[in-house]
Amino acid sequence: MAATPQSDASQFLLRDSTLFPSFDNIDDRYTYYPKFEYGDDFDSYNEEVEEWQEKYEYHTEFVGEIKEVDNLLRLVVKAVDRSGKRVMIAFYDSNRGGVYEERCKVGHTIMIQYPKPHHFMDGSAGFRIEDEDIDAVTVIPHSYERLLAANDAYFKITGNPDTCANCFASAADVKCKTGNALSSCARCKIAKYCNRECQMADWNNGHKLACRALPDIERIEKGPEQDNLNELEELAREG
Ligand SMILES: [Zn+2]
Ligand SMILES: [Zn+2]
Repeated sequence: MAATPQSDASQFLLRDSTLFPSFDNIDDRYTYYPKFEYGDDFDSYNEEVEEWQEKYEYHTEFVGEIKEVDNLLRLVVKAVDRSGKRVMIAFYDSNRGGVYEERCKVGHTIMIQYPKPHHFMDGSAGFRIEDEDIDAVTVIPHSYERLLAANDAYFKITGNPDTCANCFASAADVKCKTGNALSSCARCKIAKYCNRECQMADWNNGHKLACRALPDIERIEKGPEQDNLNELEELAREG
């Protein structure tokens, strides 16, 4: 018999307004993150990160869908946050946003870790990106709607591990009845199905929208701290 699916993903990750607040709800306490500087000792940096994570168990990130891109003098992006507020993201780094110029496209999603709200001279609210903030920016080539669909699908899948993403039959039951293991969706490699009919049904039932962005949600869920730490560990090993 199929298990009852845990389908309430309404509070997880992108849906969580503490982790991903609207511009007006960004909490200043979470906008600092220890930065690894050249010459810092790796162990003491890790300690600082751990202390910080204990103190502020939250990760905070701005997320908005890109509505306008201007790169006349510098890259300036207008994005709409979860509450519908329009904010300006202006790149004041030494490359004037050149790193993100290709990636910033209307309809895609821009994210900024530990965002520091800024009020510009012209009255716009948003973020002023300096050299030190450049790595905190991510552009994801999906609409916010697709990311939310993927967010919900991801937690439905991970909340019901080793079950078919459509009928929630357990891998053990499927193996017992058909002799087959669950097979993964070839594109996202995250959703698993007991057969082709279940895969088709789920595809038409929303996986079509979510599929492409599922790996991005997995990356966001695992967290940038982990990425950074992995990178730093690699650097430490090389050095
Ligand atoms: Zn199934
Ligand atoms: Zn898929």
